[in-house]
Amino acid sequence: MTRYRRRTAHRSRRDDPTSDQRPRIVVVGGGFAGFYATRSLHRLVRDQARVTLVSPADFLLYSPLLPEVATGVLDPRDIAVPLRQALPGVHQLYGHVTAVDLDSRTVRISPRDSAPHDLAWDRLVLAPGSVTREFDIPGMPEHAHGLKTLPEATFLRNHVLAQLDRADALPDTDAGRREREELLTVVAVGAGYTGTEFVAQTQHWVRGIASRWTTVDPADVRWLLVDVATQVLPELGPRLGRAALKILQRRGVEVRLGVTVSAATGTSVTLTDGTVVATRTLVWSAGVAPSPLIAALGLPTSRGRLVVDADLSVPGHTGLWAAGDAAAVPDLAGMTTADGQVPVTAPTAQHAQRQGVVVARNVAASLGIGSSKRYRHRDLGLVADFGGTAAAARPLGIPLTGPAAKVVARGYHLYALPTIPARIRVATDWLYASILPTRVVQLDTVRAEDAVIRSAQSTGIYADT
Ligand SMILES: Cc1cc2nc3c(=O)[nH]c(=O)nc-3n(C[C@H](O)[C@H](O)[C@H](O)COP(=O)(O)OP(=O)(O)OC[C@H]3O[C@@H](n4cnc5c(N)ncnc54)[C@H](O)[C@@H]3O)c2cc1C
Repeated sequence: MTRYRRRTAHRSRRDDPTSDQRPRIVVVGGGFAGFYATRSLHRLVRDQARVTLVSPADFLLYSPLLPEVATGVLDPRDIAVPLRQALPGVHQLYGHVTAVDLDSRTVRISPRDSAPHDLAWDRLVLAPGSVTREFDIPGMPEHAHGLKTLPEATFLRNHVLAQLDRADALPDTDAGRREREELLTVVAVGAGYTGTEFVAQTQHWVRGIASRWTTVDPADVRWLLVDVATQVLPELGPRLGRAALKILQRRGVEVRLGVTVSAATGTSVTLTDGTVVATRTLVWSAGVAPSPLIAALGLPTSRGRLVVDADLSVPGHTGLWAAGDAAAVPDLAGMTTADGQVPVTAPTAQHAQRQGVVVARNVAASLGIGSSKRYRHRDLGLVADFGGTAAAARPLGIPLTGPAAKVVARGYHLYALPTIPARIRVATDWLYASILPTRVVQLDTVRAEDAVIRSAQSTGIYADT
């Protein structure tokens, strides 16, 4: 038998799950936690177990750079890291896991274009991440857009351009002026990093492409950022929050704290203080909620996140682990609360990535390979980019703003992108963006109905949603 035939015979025996007697490890979710779990598991268990990754898409989305896709600084493909290339040799299935049977040890996979089927597991790692947190607010499901996926980022970019283009073409009549006000107002709910970065970067971008319009001046656009909290960017602490607020206000962004949206229509939003704002653009970034798959499990949760021990295992269920935004992981490096409770880790990529590596180690340990460990990581600090040279960062607790923060923010993203080709693509696009005219064409159009949260984030596909 030639070497090629021997190799293909060996591979096809291994790819046939019925003849493969090795333990079956299934990882659900190809985001930060799932990707790093799969990559580490593949290296640790080698041929001693069959590792399968189940993901709806064939890429890891580097979501911290989504606002830069929404402003065309980056091409969508720059932040979509191909799973097949980054995880060679790993068995991959594309589709959503819509149910987990803990007794028969199977997951139900619903591919986009074919019939659902079951997959058996001996070890299961759940890392389905989170979705945009929705509230029971009239009009929100139909009119609010999240910023969690590439279709949403692409839609928002095209939508903002289209609103300004339409306003540019309106006659100077009473009706025209009324419509212009709706078209030229952008409302973002949630002053965390997603909402703040979106407003700041989009405002900066629109100012930089003023020559696209003849009657519309970017200064005519009303940017409104609202949040029930009393601070902008609470993730970065009060000092940087105040600095971010000043940057936004200097740029003419209206920041309304202590209020939120109570109703939305296609042409207005009503705030909880009774103010009605005429707008056709409502961006929803008021926090995240764990993937609805977690609620469908019927297991104990904390604020919707699956309760796990410090080694990321699900208590009382041998062979089951969870990591990332979907899991309530005890934060052993955090400060215990006044009543002696250990806090849980924040839903960040920084934690998800490191939890992925630890969960892989612990799954391997359950197979007798190496030893297990508890998850412990001290936060390295977050970064926020406001477009241009404006940014805020708190690396290792040191507060920075301006160009120094920008360098830290960009350096952090280049370090955190999981592959070298992705780093080169992003760095090259940043270089182009700094020397070439800003990109303004509307490509990859996404229909408005495909960009509402339920469709873009597939939140309605689970048994009890
Ligand atoms: C705009 C934005 C900016 C951000 N900025 C930062 C930042 O600066 N720093 C930082 O640390 N964090 C940041 N975050 C948060 C960070 O992206 C998340 O904390 C991180 O992605 C969580 O990793 P995860 O693996 O838990 O989930 P994800 O990375 O979201 O991955 C979950 C994966 O599971 C898949 N999935 C979902 N449901 C299923 C299912 N039923 N079956 C199979 N697969 C499923 C998803 O498609 C996805 O591939 C930002 C997030 C956003 C949206």
